[in-house]
Amino acid sequence: MTMPSSLPASRLITELQSFGIRLADPRVGAPSRRGGAGPSDHKAVTVDGRTVMVPVHTAGAFASPYMADAPDAEGASIVRRDGVALGRVSFPRVPRFYALQTMDGVPYSKIAVLHGADVLATTVLQTCIRYQSRTKTCQFCSIGQSLAAGRTIARKTPEQLAEVARAAVLLDGVRHMVMTTGTPSTPDRGAAILCESAKAVKAAVDLPIQGQCEPPDSDAWFTRLYEAGIDTLGMHLEAVTPEVRARVMPGKASVPLERYFSAFEAAVPVFGRGQVSTYILAGLGDSREAILEMAERLIVLGVYPFVVPFVPVSGTPLEDHPAPSPAFMHDLLSAIGGMLKRAGMRASDSKAGCGKCGACSALSSFEE
Ligand code: SF4
Repeated sequence: MTMPSSLPASRLITELQSFGIRLADPRVGAPSRRGGAGPSDHKAVTVDGRTVMVPVHTAGAFASPYMADAPDAEGASIVRRDGVALGRVSFPRVPRFYALQTMDGVPYSKIAVLHGADVLATTVLQTCIRYQSRTKTCQFCSIGQSLAAGRTIARKTPEQLAEVARAAVLLDGVRHMVMTTGTPSTPDRGAAILCESAKAVKAAVDLPIQGQCEPPDSDAWFTRLYEAGIDTLGMHLEAVTPEVRARVMPGKASVPLERYFSAFEAAVPVFGRGQVSTYILAGLGDSREAILEMAERLIVLGVYPFVVPFVPVSGTPLEDHPAPSPAFMHDLLSAIGGMLKRAGMRASDSKAGCGKCGACSALSSFEE
């Protein structure tokens, strides 16, 4: 159950995503995630009917001025700032499919997890060529941490993904799926693994899928991905200026921005306008102007710029890097929301994936 907050939802969401939240009862809602790709160290929180990912395990969250009381009998919690009640939120329940395991004893939750309200998310390949060297790793990434802690498995087979996807749709009403991958050493940069995984899931259940990988060596992969059942494609810039890319993602920056742009140009005609997207982490050093300029360029190409606040994840080289301020995010997202509106591009028109889910950023609330 969700109740309206006394702050506008977009404002409360940007504040909670920047500062994080302290929980009077850390066991509330679905289990939070530590390590891994995607919204790590976060918990899903529902604010005014929108489920968003909010940091709970980061150093910033431990010092957050925001605190959620233990939930009442209806599952709603009061959120306070410095002790003053601001509104009520709720926490999505533990998904039913988490109780299941495969015939060979692998818990479903090690194969895929629930993100936001209704997204099944998996990292098909939990290893990455970029992660193996301190000098090459993306400084914000924790893909190896959940693997080292035994919370996931290194390679999810197509059969396992199909089994879990089917259960998540039937038991928990999951509506779309995100398949990301660490980057393998092959020139397709993970596209082949996404193809075989998507084929297996689509054969088992009718579920829109977003694939996420680095731009592959050949544009021919875009048609193969689409024909395999990938409905939308994410190729994530993360940072937009060459200096910031080289500093925070020295390995991945070896794929030049020009390749991202040629890949976007080739992928949009295959998947459709607004069905190709990119993740941009605001707060890593790119200026407001640089991010806005990039967003404009992407929108012209038909690429959805999913701008999210950077969250310093514990155990990563950037764990002490500050998160962007709520004012910076509010200003940035309202400007991008205006651009998207003028271009007639909306997150809700996306068939699957992060833009449609929107739990890691308040961006879609600025499109309204
Ligand atoms: S926006 Fe993407 S990464 Fe964030 S919770 Fe949704 S599906 Fe997961």
